[in-house]
Amino acid sequence: MEFKALVIDLDGSVYHGNTLIEKADEALKFLGKKYDILYLTNNSTRSRAEFARKLANFGISCTKQQLITSGYAAAQYLQEHYASSKVYVIGEQGLKDELTEHDITICEEDCDCVLVGLDKEFNYKKMSKALNIILKGAVFIATNTDPFLITSEGVKPGAGSLVTAIETASVKKAIVTGKPSAFITDLIVKKLKAKPEEILIVGDNLQTDILMGIKGGMRTALVLTGASKLGDIERLQIRPDYIFKSIKHIPPFLDKNLHDGRTEKDCQD
Ligand SMILES: [Mg+2]
Repeated sequence: MEFKALVIDLDGSVYHGNTLIEKADEALKFLGKKYDILYLTNNSTRSRAEFARKLANFGISCTKQQLITSGYAAAQYLQEHYASSKVYVIGEQGLKDELTEHDITICEEDCDCVLVGLDKEFNYKKMSKALNIILKGAVFIATNTDPFLITSEGVKPGAGSLVTAIETASVKKAIVTGKPSAFITDLIVKKLKAKPEEILIVGDNLQTDILMGIKGGMRTALVLTGASKLGDIERLQIRPDYIFKSIKHIPPFLDKNLHDGRTEKDCQD
């Protein structure tokens, strides 16, 4: 099986917060020469331009067009389905920047959509406002439902925690645009102009990266540098095609002989 393109998750696969994972830059340089690469993150707090700058600081060259964030996916979704809507946003500046770039109107009153992403200034007042707008019939959209984040300062609540609070209060389910939604999968396939089976997705999270790849008909590679551990595969019954200790092991593997059936044991060497 030959791949045309790689989709690479960022946090936990390429870096941990502000620390680059060992030799991830070298691995990506090598892979970038052979494959089309798209970087993917459920983090909506920064815009694609900011993520491109962050990667550049790690010595990884990447254009804005090579990045998909859950905020960008939400902006695309709104543009496609609710282009003339007025949107109440719970989220940070990066999310608002993506919406503005897509000509989406952000507002505080008379809104017909509520968009919820990670917002470190989230509070009861914002939650009440979102609740009342949704109860009046507004469309409820979430950038993603990641329950928590692993940061250098420990574990913190993710966007999913905020979304669930509003879902509980409103008794409505949000439309999710980030990983592992079908919407972001379609966005990836369209951007890469490749068939799903020609795409390898690399990520550290079984429940987002790997599940999305499996559901979308892509091939999947789990890296054991982040959220999911080997034992989670059995527990969650989500089985990646390949498992690597870290991203630096992917180029030699793809270079040597790409074959099916790499086992959990193989990745230990
Ligand atoms: Mg990750």
